[in-house]
Amino acid sequence: MLESLNNLLPQTQCGQCSFNGCRPYAEAIIAGEADINQCPPSGDAGIARLAEFLGIAPKPLNSQFGEHKPKSVAVIDEAQCIGCVKCIAACPVDAIVGAAKWMHTVIATECTGCELCVAPCPIDCITMIPLENPDFAPTNLHAKQRYEAKTKRKEMEGIEKTERLRQQKARLLAAH
Ligand code: SF4
Ligand code: SF4
Ligand code: SF4
Repeated sequence: MLESLNNLLPQTQCGQCSFNGCRPYAEAIIAGEADINQCPPSGDAGIARLAEFLGIAPKPLNSQFGEHKPKSVAVIDEAQCIGCVKCIAACPVDAIVGAAKWMHTVIATECTGCELCVAPCPIDCITMIPLENPDFAPTNLHAKQRYEAKTKRKEMEGIEKTERLRQQKARLLAAH
């Protein structure tokens, strides 16, 4: 049930529902700790799908959590970009490419429009532009797969870093 409910959510991981991603929100709905109308990207149509799945009456989006907006995509002003990589760290679906001190660019076909890269940019060179054709936005399933792949990669990087530090500490202790 959790996976099916999660699959009905937009998978932008934007956090507007007040949970740390779509899956935690789905878990909270199932646990009776959140209402079905807290996801602005879902809008009324998405809320109706949640209500149908759960066999309950739909309700309007709770504006306390934000407004439903048209699908959009992030665009970086590459001439302004200083290559700080903060946007790459913030993007849940690895939709930004670039390297430290080099300009960054958004892969438009991978961008879910979550806006999570906008605030961390120290020079405000990321703008959200409405998509001319919303059909070009990644599907929920595709975004979910990209998010899960990034999450797994970050976990592996964390494990590798811990192991490197452990080995470094062991070498230092052995040297004394
Ligand atoms: S897309 Fe909806 S459910 Fe997912 S994190 Fe954003 S507000 Fe929450
Ligand atoms: S590029 Fe920005 S808006 Fe697009 S998915 Fe990544 S963080 Fe979200
Ligand atoms: S956060 Fe802004 S300045 Fe930093 S790399 Fe991204 S677009 Fe460039």
